[in-house]
Amino acid sequence: MDYMAAHGLKRARPAELVPGTVSVITARMDYLPRMDAAGWSAQGDQDWRTVEWARLERPHEGVVSLYARGRDYHKVLRARLQKLCDRIAAAVGPFGHRVFTDSAPVLEAALAERSGLGWRGKHTLVIDRAAGSMFFLGEIYTDLVLEPTQPVPEHCGSCSACLSACPTGAIVAPYRLDARRCISYLTIEHPGAIPPELRPLLGNRIYGCDDCQLVCPWNKFAQRSSLPDFDARAELTGQRLVSLFAWDEATFLRRTEGSPIRRIGHERWLRNIAVALGNALHSRNDAVQGEEQAAMRAALQARSGHASPLVREHVAWALAQGG
Ligand code: SF4
Ligand code: SF4
Repeated sequence: MDYMAAHGLKRARPAELVPGTVSVITARMDYLPRMDAAGWSAQGDQDWRTVEWARLERPHEGVVSLYARGRDYHKVLRARLQKLCDRIAAAVGPFGHRVFTDSAPVLEAALAERSGLGWRGKHTLVIDRAAGSMFFLGEIYTDLVLEPTQPVPEHCGSCSACLSACPTGAIVAPYRLDARRCISYLTIEHPGAIPPELRPLLGNRIYGCDDCQLVCPWNKFAQRSSLPDFDARAELTGQRLVSLFAWDEATFLRRTEGSPIRRIGHERWLRNIAVALGNALHSRNDAVQGEEQAAMRAALQARSGHASPLVREHVAWALAQGG
C-alpha cells in the first residue's frame, strides 16, 4: 500500500518503471498443491474444496492459505520467468527485459486482465475459465515489440458468492475490496494489533484466507501445480494450534525456511495464532473440550509474559474469550 503512493505513475506506465519497455509478457503459474502431496488423497475422491472447508470447521487446527503451504512462490516464479527470458534470447538474440513477481510497483492484475490471462472477478482476483483463480502472476517487461493479446469477457454474471462468503465483509461491493477488513491483509501485511471487532471473524485462519476463492464456482477448474515446490509442508497443514503456538523463534525460522510465511516474523505468527486460540476457546466446539481446552489455556498462559506487547495483548484477549 505504501509503495502505491510512493511510485505513482510508475505503476500505471511500465516505461516509467523500466525505461525502454514497449511490451509486457504476462504469465500465470498454478499453485494448487499436487494431489498426492496435499493430504487430499487420504480423503478419497472428495473435492479439494470440500476438504478445505472442513478445515475451517475444526477450530483447534490452524489453517494456512493454500498458496503458502509450500515454497515461496516469488523465488519459484522468478526463476522460471528468467528461464523463459533465456529461451527467448536464444531464439531472437539478446533483448532488454526485467522480470517481476509481486516484488515491485506493478499493477499485476490489471496487466493480466488487459492481456487476456483472465477477467477480474468480483473479489478482485483474476479468473480464467480453464484454471479458476488459484495461480500466481508474473511479468516480463521487455523492449521487444510484440503483438498485443486481447482481454477476455468476464464470466461472473449474476453470481455474488464471494461477497456473501467473505467472513469479514471485506468485499464491500463487486470489484471493491476493503483491504483493512481482509483477513489476508490483516494476518500477513498488517503490522499492528488486529482490530478486536474483527478477531472473532478470523476463525482459525492464521495466515491468509481462501474463502472467496473456495466458494467461486470457477475454481472447479483450478489446476494443480506440476511442481513439487508447492507441495504442502506437513508442519503447516492440519496442525493443532497449540503445537504451532509452541514454536519458539528459532523453530519458526527453521520451519518456515524458504516459505512465504517467514516474512511475517515470529511476533505476527504468535499474534495470529493467539486470535485463533481465542476463537477456538470461544467456540465451545466438541473438539475444544477437556484436554484440548486445557492445553489451549496452558499454551496461552505460557505466552502471557511474552516480551512483545503485541503478543501479550492478543494473548490476554484470547484468554478472555474462554469465559
Ligand atoms: S481473502 Fe478472505 S477476508 Fe479477504 S476478501 Fe477474500 S474471503 Fe474476504
Ligand atoms: S464467486 Fe462468483 S462473483 Fe465471485 S469471483 Fe467467482 S464467479 Fe465472480
